[in-house]
Amino acid sequence: MFLFELVQNMEFNNQFIVPWIIFAILAAFLIIVYYGLKVSKVKKTSERYLYLLKIPEKLGAYRLNDKYTYSYSLASKSQFDNVSMDFIVIAVIKENEDLRELYKKCLVNDKKMNEYKQMKLNAPEYHLGKSLDDKIYCQIEKRLCNGISDNGRPTVPSFCFISSYTSPQGRRKYQNTIELTTEEMTIKVAEALLMDDYQYESIKRRKMNRAQFERQKMTPALRYEVLRRDNFRCKICGRSQEDGVKLHVDHILPVSKGGKTEMNNLRTLCEDCNLGKKDKYDPNGIN
Ligand SMILES: [Zn+2]
Repeated sequence: MFLFELVQNMEFNNQFIVPWIIFAILAAFLIIVYYGLKVSKVKKTSERYLYLLKIPEKLGAYRLNDKYTYSYSLASKSQFDNVSMDFIVIAVIKENEDLRELYKKCLVNDKKMNEYKQMKLNAPEYHLGKSLDDKIYCQIEKRLCNGISDNGRPTVPSFCFISSYTSPQGRRKYQNTIELTTEEMTIKVAEALLMDDYQYESIKRRKMNRAQFERQKMTPALRYEVLRRDNFRCKICGRSQEDGVKLHVDHILPVSKGGKTEMNNLRTLCEDCNLGKKDKYDPNGIN
């Protein structure tokens, strides 16, 4: 609009403008056609472009995502607290055949990475030449090659593991995350594969039922050892069986809170003192 007014103000007459506009349109059209032909010529003849284009086919790497995520949900808060991410990773690998197959592909891609870098180094040079035509050719060639510069680059994914526990009404959600590269996965996969299924199941049972496992460690011999150490008296009220109370061996830090069945976490309590305590834990000792 502005241009039109300008042209009018300059008092060109219409007879003059029309041929000019036609000429400009024609010129633009020719430039576009010329450029289009040039691009298709470069696509057909540029050694570098054609070489880069063929890399994926020659390399034959797997098409993989950048990242794979695996979730493992746990049945209780105490499982969530007690089972390490290390073990979650092992569990996922052990229980997931797809992951193991995928991992093999990741290794293949990892190896192809060096091959890929070498192939790129071996790519033919850009077209050279001093004429305007050569320069335009080279310009287009560079633009096309940049557009496919990562073509065929093998993806070496990372693996994300999430362990989670959601409380019964979904009120609280707990979550741990760990991310491993393909390289870091190697040792984990080896570790998982070294475990036979029986071994794995027994380790899993022990890890997942840690509380039960801790309680099983309370043998009659250990019980006696604790009672003897405490002179067969309640550590809170000091009464003994002679005073008519029943003596219990108690976990100072409850098993449900991660306490272990070991001498230094055990003490003698009478039934009255013990039942008054339940699962409460006072880090200062006396409940
Ligand atoms: Zn007592």
